[in-house]
Amino acid sequence: MEARPRVLIVEDDARLAGMLGELLGSEGYDVVLAGDGQRGLHLGLTEDFDVMVLDRGLPAVDGLDVIGRLRDRGVLTPALVLSALGNAADRVEGLNRGAEDYLAKPFDIDELLARLRVLRRRLASTVPVVRFSGGTLDADSRNVALDDGRRFSLSERESALLERLARRPGQIFSRDDLLANVFADADDPGVVDTYVHHVRRKLGRQAIETVRGVGYRMGSAL
Ligand code: CA
Repeated sequence: MEARPRVLIVEDDARLAGMLGELLGSEGYDVVLAGDGQRGLHLGLTEDFDVMVLDRGLPAVDGLDVIGRLRDRGVLTPALVLSALGNAADRVEGLNRGAEDYLAKPFDIDELLARLRVLRRRLASTVPVVRFSGGTLDADSRNVALDDGRRFSLSERESALLERLARRPGQIFSRDDLLANVFADADDPGVVDTYVHHVRRKLGRQAIETVRGVGYRMGSAL
């Protein structure tokens, strides 16, 4: 069970939306399509995405309004805006209103893919504090604060492991996924189990759940 990055595409042009969905799907994304701003806003508020692609010109609620409303509600998922208006003022407005990146139509698909990769990498560094059941992790300082007042400091690898699990609390991560995304310099999947053990020793056995035969998922520290 590989963890596929989830992308929300909000685009009212059904043909373009279909093409984007197919392309991003073939690039390994788990794609969710919304045909208008209302639907995009609803999905953005209720589901968890790694990155969003929004058309600027949408009926009723335009792409920048969707981003603004999501930001107001604390949703910080990186957003890339597609716009038929390619001028500088339009680009600046998009960035000022909460979009992380901006691409004029027609765009090159390889450029879109490259920019989405950058945005996904940026997510981890812009929002260092991750909430999980029973406490929070500050991924910058690698400090864990449990709701009962206990504090722990984690090693770099322990923190990276906990962060990956905590950012997607419902998801089950295979050891291969964790090996590739957390311990990229290691090649023995056993390192995953070792660090799961380390984190549990600090935060409690139930902090990371074992899903037998599949992998690991975030549990509760309290
Ligand atoms: Ca449009």
